[in-house]
Order: sequence, then structure tokens, then C-alpha cells
Amino acid sequence: MALIVQKFGGTSVGSVERIEQVAEKIKKFRDGGDDIVVVVSAMSGETNRLIDLAKQISDQPVARELDVMVSTGEQVTIALLAMALIKRGVPAVSFTGNQVRILTDSAHTKARILQIDSQRIQRELKAGRVVVVAGFQGVDGKGNITTLGRGGSDTTGVALAAALKADECQIYTDVDGVYTTDPRVVAKARRLDKITFEEMLEMASLGSKVLQIRAVEFAGKYSVPLRVLHSFQEGPGTLITLDEEESMEQPIISGIAFNRDEAKLTIRGVPDTPGVAFKILGPISAANVEVDMIVQNVAHDNTTDFTFTVHRNDYNSALQILQTIANEMGAREVIGDTDIAKVSIVGVGMRSHAGVASRMFEALAKENINIQMISTSEIKVSVVIEEKYLELAVRALHTAFELDAPAAKTAE
Ligand code: ADP
Ligand code: ASP
Ligand code: MG
Repeated sequence: MALIVQKFGGTSVGSVERIEQVAEKIKKFRDGGDDIVVVVSAMSGETNRLIDLAKQISDQPVARELDVMVSTGEQVTIALLAMALIKRGVPAVSFTGNQVRILTDSAHTKARILQIDSQRIQRELKAGRVVVVAGFQGVDGKGNITTLGRGGSDTTGVALAAALKADECQIYTDVDGVYTTDPRVVAKARRLDKITFEEMLEMASLGSKVLQIRAVEFAGKYSVPLRVLHSFQEGPGTLITLDEEESMEQPIISGIAFNRDEAKLTIRGVPDTPGVAFKILGPISAANVEVDMIVQNVAHDNTTDFTFTVHRNDYNSALQILQTIANEMGAREVIGDTDIAKVSIVGVGMRSHAGVASRMFEALAKENINIQMISTSEIKVSVVIEEKYLELAVRALHTAFELDAPAAKTAE
């Protein structure tokens, strides 16, 4: 008998009918003899609706209260799913994050899980019940409700699987696995049978929202067998694996990720003296603004240009800070651009292949797409381009790295 943690995302529980379908599916697993812990998200659109409500009161709602509110979305679905299971004769019980003590730090809206007290869940499992746990939420040491950041139910699922030493964590969603790139953008994207944790981590952190980054981190750290599957279609899904050798047929590039959430800032004509980068980025990080890519140009006339990217939500505050710095340093001007996107190619196969980046640049050049910034690591190359070319760029790279599926395919 296996212990399986199953997480169902927002679309999979998006209506009463779907919740009934999910209950049917869980019943089948139970009838097969497995112990099941289920984690559910809020019904699709619900978290956004709640955030919009808060924004009608204040542009920047108090984070503690925002968490009290957005956590209610998941509370509705756990109860509905437990009811649907009980109606089918499957003993079930629902719990909020607080009730099973998913202990987090106090960083409201982006809390990290510190510890899970699995005893309560173990007792319920022993008593023969399916345990339904609210995703995305926890409680801090002082009893405040916290949430884990958008997409956080994935992390709840993986963390529970780690705490319970489950045999597998299954992430059920509206696509039948992890693809070479978002199948909603590239019709020729291919489902991967396997992907390494390292690659999945890069894909997630570079914009593929199929799994939350922290869920992948957790799964890697605690060696949780993790699989992404379609909620309502049969299929093997995608296994996230520790073993590089095991991963696929070792293509150079496993996937292409992209991100439209960044903005670019440039301070021009700053004096080229030691400490410039610190003078510019010190105040930015002091304001809690995270910087992603950074480029400093080669100086001429003893001045240089300095460019970096931040999350689009932080663009206005970063721009203001930069204006002040520019005045203090006697820089020539500050310019900003929000119409940018980042495209990244990811693959452990890059380690053993030279010329991957130039192949990427060649493919973009052929489409006349200008590269504004570049950054590389051992297993990825990222470029910043004009946002309007994003889809063209992703498709061109998908073809250039021979990732296209033989026949056109659509998701769902
Ligand atoms: P859920 O509500 O189930 O958590 P999400 O919307 O968070 O679902 O994640 C699933 C979505 O992730 C898919 O519908 C797909 O559009 C998107 N996605 C982005 N990149 C990929 C990828 N490489 N493979 C599969 N899906 C991806
Ligand atoms: N409901 C939360 C969100 O929309 C958490 C999740 O779905 O994973 O971000
Ligand atoms: Mg999600």
C-alpha cells in the first residue's frame, strides 16, 4: 500500500462538476488500496478576485490582512471536496494550513514553510480517511495566517509529501506534463517524459509557472518523487528526476522558458570610478527591490552606462530611486523600458556542448530580433528582447534546437 500526496490546481477544481470529477478520481485510487492526502488550490480565478477586492480598498493592502483574505479561497475547496468524497462513501476530512500546523516564517504573502506537524494527518490516515489539506497557506509562530506566494499550493503538496515520506507527490493540472515550453504559446511543444530537478528549477525560476520554484527546491532537497500529470486525462505525465543520466535522451536543450514580468532601467553617463555599481544598486536593494540581470558598458570619456532589470511591479519605485542617484552622481540621464521580455534556453546538456549560445543568437538574428541583454550560467542562456517579439523568439528557438513535435498538438 502506497501513500500518495495529490495536488489539484485551480482549473481542476474550478467548478462543482470538476470537484465531483476529482472526487471520483480519488475514490478510484482509494479503492486500489492507497492512502491519499489531497492538497487543493482555490477555484480558478478566486485568488485573483480576492486580491482585486483588497485593491479596491487600498493600492497596497496590509499584507497580514491580505493573507487572512486570500487564504479563504482554499478553505472553500477543501470543504467542497471533502463533501464530494463523503457523498461517495469515501471517509474524508478537510484541514486548513493552521489546523495541520504548516508552520511558516512571518513573511506575509511569500512565507516559507519551516516545519509540518504530520501527526494529525497520520492519525486521520490510520483511521482510514482521505485527508484534504488547503494549499498555499500556513501559520506563523504567533498564530497569524500566512500564504506561500502565487502558485504556492504546489509547495504545500511537496512539503507534505516530504513530511509524510510519501511514495510520490502527484501534481495534477490542466496540461498533461511539463513541456519543452508553454504549450499554450507553442503548439509544437512536446511533453517531456523526464526532466532533472536542476533543469526544472531553472525553468520555474525563469518563468514556467507549471510548478512553483519552491516546490521544486523542496522536492530536490528532500528527494520527493515528483510527477506532473493531467487531472482528467490518463497518461504518464512528467517525472522530475534527480538522475541526469536518466533524463531523456540527453538533448542539449530541454526547454525554453520566458517571462514578461520584468522591466529594464538604464542610468547613462555615470562617472566610471570604483564603487559605481554599489552606489547604484545599494539603494535599490535597500528598498527591497530584487535585481535580475545587470550590464555595465565599457567606459569611454570616463563615463559609462549601467543597465539592470527588476520585476515590473517594482519598476516605478526603482525608477524614482534611480533618478535621485543620477542627480547625486551627476549622471547624464535615466531611461526605463517596461516593454521587454526575457527568453531562456535551459538544459544540462549544455555543459558538454560548446556553441549553444551562438546557436541561440543566430536563430534570433535570422528573425531580426535584437538582443538587449544576455546572461549565462552552466545550464542556461537568457536574453532580454522587445516584448512584442517574444512569441516569435520562443517559436524560432524551439525549432532551432530541434524541440518541435512531429505533428501539431494543442494542450488540454
Ligand atoms: P494549476 O492551476 O493547476 O496550478 P498553473 O496555471 O499554475 O496550473 O500551471 C499550469 C500551466 O502552466 C499550463 O496551463 C501552461 O500554460 C503553463 N506552462 C508554462 N510553461 C509550461 C511548460 N513548460 N510545460 C507545461 N505547462 C507550462
Ligand atoms: N490559489 C493560489 C494562487 O492562485 C495558490 C495556487 O493556486 O497554487 O496563486
Ligand atoms: Mg499553479
